[in-house]
Amino acid sequence: MPKFCVAPFYILDIKPDGSCWICCEQWLPKPLGNINENTLDEIWNGETARSIRKSILDGSFRYCSNIQCPALSSGNLDHITEFNEEEKILILDRNVPKDSRIEVTSPHSETPITDYIRNRFPGQINLSYDHSCNLQCPSCRTKVTMVNEGPEFDRIKRMHDNVIQTLFNEPHDHSITINVTGSGDPFASKVYRDFLFNFDPSSWPNVKLGIQTHGGLLTPVTWARISQWHKKIEYIKICFDAATKDTYKIVRKGGNWDQLMLNCEFLNDQMEYNDFFGIADFIVQDHNFKEMPAFAELFLTKFKNFRYICFYVVNNWGTWSSEEYEKRAIWKESHPQHKELLEVLKHPIFKNKKIILGSFDSMITV
Ligand code: SF4
Ligand code: SF4
Repeated sequence: MPKFCVAPFYILDIKPDGSCWICCEQWLPKPLGNINENTLDEIWNGETARSIRKSILDGSFRYCSNIQCPALSSGNLDHITEFNEEEKILILDRNVPKDSRIEVTSPHSETPITDYIRNRFPGQINLSYDHSCNLQCPSCRTKVTMVNEGPEFDRIKRMHDNVIQTLFNEPHDHSITINVTGSGDPFASKVYRDFLFNFDPSSWPNVKLGIQTHGGLLTPVTWARISQWHKKIEYIKICFDAATKDTYKIVRKGGNWDQLMLNCEFLNDQMEYNDFFGIADFIVQDHNFKEMPAFAELFLTKFKNFRYICFYVVNNWGTWSSEEYEKRAIWKESHPQHKELLEVLKHPIFKNKKIILGSFDSMITV
């Protein structure tokens, strides 16, 4: 079956300047348009989006970064049934009939996900326009950024209102997951927090919520404040980057490991009673690579209701000089400790099906 990636048929990421991207700006650096200037239909069904989709269907993936995208670098991509030219047009037009033999399967889903290519609306919208976060991870920023008032807050709020108005202008039954957030923390940001605490999603039966957070503020009290979303939460994705308090202090500057562990216990229990799943993320750098097995162990034993444990290579988001980044980038063969990383990756725990090694998959030597 030809390799395929569902992201260009599914994910729309909206940045602080209103620019819109597929999956991640670093993985696929080609903007689709701007939410402040274009309609959602122009962005999502326009020529740029179509040419990106064509590059998936012709197998070139020419707009995607082979190094940055974990699915591409590990070969862990979706698959699509062989198709002819006529069917290719049906796919590009998002017009695949229900009884078509075209089927998309994903390595992470037991059921075909063909419906994603039928949906002319984005299936997942990432609200990535507010960078507010109460932490100061060296990989992400050089100072704490909180935008709670003033002209910048007003600008972000206007854009947010425009996005929410576009998505929820009237009741509809589109299947959309609103992902909050890839840009900061949903509960540190006033714009996102107000939305999550106050918006009533009950008129949109197929709207779901994906929470992407550092987890430290997602306490039982916060959980109670978003009760109207509980049945609509699809996943909670928490980025840890550590398995011990000492390492957490370095990579998540300002974070509270003990509170995070309490919150995880609580969320792990909630996963028993609610219909959402957990994703535990770990971005690997020189400070934390030795803790990869311990991190996997933590989520296979203590917080075992989390469905996926994902590892990623560290990127330079512009906060490090290139010399500093070379010190952090343990994934590079040129890094003095790279061989130690290869030894860590031989640990048998990484054979567990819940673990997604992404780019590290191809580094396993036994
Ligand atoms: S292959 Fe990677 S970079 Fe390309 S669209 Fe898919 S997720 Fe994005
Ligand atoms: S917790 Fe996430 S958003 Fe906040 S500073 Fe760290 S990496 Fe950035």
